[in-house]
Amino acid sequence: MPAPSLHTSPSQPDNTEVSGYIGRFAPSPTGPLHFGSLVSALASYLDAKANNGQWLVRMEDLDLPREQPGAARNILQSLEDHGLHWDGEVLYQSQRHPAYQECLDVLLKKNWVYPCTCSRQDLAHMGGIYNGHCRTHPISPGQAYSLRLKLYDLPDRASNDLIEFEDLIQGIQIQNLRTQAGDQILKRRDGLFAYPLAVVVDDIAQGITHTIRGSDLLEVTGRQLFFFGLLGAPLPRFGHVPLAVHANGQKLSKQNHAKAIEAGDASKNLWRGLMFLGQNPPVDLAGVSTTEILAWAVQHWQRHAVSGLSHLYTD
Ligand code: ZN
Repeated sequence: MPAPSLHTSPSQPDNTEVSGYIGRFAPSPTGPLHFGSLVSALASYLDAKANNGQWLVRMEDLDLPREQPGAARNILQSLEDHGLHWDGEVLYQSQRHPAYQECLDVLLKKNWVYPCTCSRQDLAHMGGIYNGHCRTHPISPGQAYSLRLKLYDLPDRASNDLIEFEDLIQGIQIQNLRTQAGDQILKRRDGLFAYPLAVVVDDIAQGITHTIRGSDLLEVTGRQLFFFGLLGAPLPRFGHVPLAVHANGQKLSKQNHAKAIEAGDASKNLWRGLMFLGQNPPVDLAGVSTTEILAWAVQHWQRHAVSGLSHLYTD
């Protein structure tokens, strides 16, 4: 194994600032919007609007088996109820299969992806980080396989294990693609395109320059930046806001049935979201309309006041 050197993705300088801010909120429709996802939506909205940017919404409805019927509409309604109006049309990942396949074809031609038949159990035996086994062990014909993207030692490509970037909120990050990420599944064995593929293909297609999202995704950011570089795309900036966690340390999530936020409490929810994001809204702001709260929040938005990887949330 070559000595890791401190470097960013192969073809791009780090932290390329791109002009014309385009941000996005990209919920998965596995349940209604809860306080944690409202915080991500609000932070990405405010950061975009405070920078005279556009704010797009993308519905990450790739994983139909996990989708909750009606959740996509419900989330969009909730955003509207909170005055978070997006620019342009909502992009649905379920409509984007041809674009994902096109990208895979390019990667296959370059020999940057390969078939893998390893099971979840195999992965567990590897300690949870894929060790590249199927790079050197060709699969037998007729077996169902997933497709993995190489994150290190790529053919015709100088690359380094370490990737460094400056998170807009969490500061400098250094991630090791070989030991902390491992080759990523882009297409699952059951034929579904996977999040690591779709998120980057769509961010590029939508011209996203800034992604503000929950800190649970901080750890996948290095590999995503590497993938942008591999596809020859400009590198967007990322900023990760704290997660809302319960007293037991569990994050609020659709999976553990976090309470849906209520339209009737919209102003209060926004006000609490601003508190959570360190924006210090005046107390009487909790009683005004969502439009007025958001106008105040855009005007007073301070990215640097947002801090921490998680904060306690109590109902
Ligand atoms: Zn494998």
